[in-house]
Amino acid sequence: MMNVDTKRVYLSVKLILPLLVMGVMVSSIQTPVHQKPNSPIIMIVTVDWEVGNEEALRDTIPDSTRAILRLFKKHDIKATFLAECDSIVNMFEYEDLVNEILADGHEIGFHFHLICWLQTETQMKTSIEYAKEEAGRYNIDLKSFRAGCFEITPKYLELLKEAGFHVDLSEREGTPHWLNNGMLELPLTHLKKWHILNYYLNFYNRDMEKIVNEKYKDGTDIFVLYFHQWNIVKDEKLLNYMDNFFSYIEKKYNVKYITCKEAYRMFYTDKENNDSISHGDP
Ligand SMILES: [Zn+2]
Repeated sequence: MMNVDTKRVYLSVKLILPLLVMGVMVSSIQTPVHQKPNSPIIMIVTVDWEVGNEEALRDTIPDSTRAILRLFKKHDIKATFLAECDSIVNMFEYEDLVNEILADGHEIGFHFHLICWLQTETQMKTSIEYAKEEAGRYNIDLKSFRAGCFEITPKYLELLKEAGFHVDLSEREGTPHWLNNGMLELPLTHLKKWHILNYYLNFYNRDMEKIVNEKYKDGTDIFVLYFHQWNIVKDEKLLNYMDNFFSYIEKKYNVKYITCKEAYRMFYTDKENNDSISHGDP
């Protein structure tokens, strides 16, 4: 038989325990940022602006770049063009195109392929300085970087930071986060469960809508997508697909397209309060 005190404790546990459990459950449910009415999703569109080592692509640069610029203009997209200057083509030599990209309000960053081939710190520094000089001819202050084949080294990141870069885009998958050196890392948005099928947010696999919808359901509201300007040369239907994709997300979501520099500024204000990245209302 229970005495009165035991009974009281028993009763209060019986009453309070479910409340405590409910409390734990409620606090462990994260409310995704995008559930706020009219809160936008952030789309960071990046273009690896390059030909790599394919000589045949050289002649296609002006037409393909301008086709993409027209598409971006149609959708009011502010994008980031990551320009290579280390292969058979130095993109900074296309003066008209660089000026047209800048005039449309896009950001120009740096894309470099040979990091793993460089032996010394001096060689690494020289590669960065060369790009800065080339960009400097247009008064571009390079802030954003992507390594070719997503192959980056800690040393190169350190030198980029010293050279004034703010954003790295060399991680193949993940979510935006701060690197130890203070740079913002913007990995490609990736559908984890389909890893084996290589489902990144790019235009190769034609499943962009699905990735955006599924990630959004999981609470993602910052997306990083990428492609190369030559993708539309190799696949004539791609430009049309891209056009449809952007129309689709614009209809379905409150999309805001921002450059990498803008992303850095936006996230930086949150940095002191919270290490995780959330965008707030831009
Ligand atoms: Zn590349």
